[in-house]
Amino acid sequence: MIHNFNPGPAALPPEVIARVQAELPDYRGCGMSILEISHRSKEYEAVNATAEANLKALLGLGDEYRVLFMQGGASMQFALIPLNFLAAGATAAYIITGTWGEKAYEEAQRLGTVHLLASTSSDGYRSLPTDVPEPDSQVAYLHLTTNETIQGVQWPAELPDFGAVPLIADMSSDFLSRPFTANRFALMYAGAQKNLGPAGVTVVVIRQDMIERGRKDLPVIMRYATFAKNNSLYNTPPVFAVYMVNLVLEWIKDQGGLSAMAERNAQKAALVYAAIDDSDGFYRGHAVPAARSLMNVTFRLATPELEKQFLAEAQKAGMVGLAGHRSVGGIRASLYNAVSLESARVLADFMREFARRYG
Ligand SMILES: *Cc1c(COP(=O)(O)O)cnc(C)c1O
Repeated sequence: MIHNFNPGPAALPPEVIARVQAELPDYRGCGMSILEISHRSKEYEAVNATAEANLKALLGLGDEYRVLFMQGGASMQFALIPLNFLAAGATAAYIITGTWGEKAYEEAQRLGTVHLLASTSSDGYRSLPTDVPEPDSQVAYLHLTTNETIQGVQWPAELPDFGAVPLIADMSSDFLSRPFTANRFALMYAGAQKNLGPAGVTVVVIRQDMIERGRKDLPVIMRYATFAKNNSLYNTPPVFAVYMVNLVLEWIKDQGGLSAMAERNAQKAALVYAAIDDSDGFYRGHAVPAARSLMNVTFRLATPELEKQFLAEAQKAGMVGLAGHRSVGGIRASLYNAVSLESARVLADFMREFARRYG
């Protein structure tokens, strides 16, 4: 039995994998697999439309929002957002709490005027900024990252009030992990491979007025308006990835929706953080407790050698994906929606036992 703590691509619900397997040879009686049919077939159009409806239902959003299925990952969104919304003469504001926010900010800097509203880089991205100044009401948008996957720092589900500016969030690693007030956002996006499905599709939820606000002098493929107008079918979409995202959305609904996800995610994270906090400093958490991520638990041991030993023994005990990001090292346990409570328990028990033997 493998306990999968991969940071992304990551664990998927076993029920979804079983369903994909069962449906693969003959998709709903059409005699072909979903991989072999036109993206303009009635079968795929139903997948596409159902996925948009399922996602809006989970988020409690109505007609004022659209869901777009795009490619290029969250990294492409780092560029498309300023391309579409940061017109000449305008300014965008960014809050940076980790590596991904930094990347988004740097991409925007290449394209226009960007104001760094707050950053926690000086404390090594361990915390959330306090006393964020209210952005100028004229800013084109305010961008932040709800969960920094590499550092393991997460904003609370309900963000502070940043004033009446269009709020844009990279939610790649905590989207649909908990309920939140989705209609506070002008645009939110997430690469599917953390919490939503396989790699290959990026989900963008965008408010209608933002679609109209986008620059019209861009190549058509780079405009949100093109994806909205064509229901994400302007060009060939990543059919299989969207199909799987829809199965994951249905799985979340069957499990009891976002509040059920949140409850289980909190239990899982509590088990692992308790193993850190009870270890008398054997494990040192990266994030300060108030900023701890429920999705990516990051910590260090006393030496890189001990971390290597930890990873090797964990692997032998069936736990994979626990190495920290190559840029920061250490240990990272990713506890996305599809990771079971049982896996978190096995990891926490292993941590306690490892600390007893090496502490
Ligand atoms: C993984 C990740 C990204 C990068 O996603 P790609 O799909 O590889 O472009 C961006 N932001 C966050 C928060 C992530 O977790």
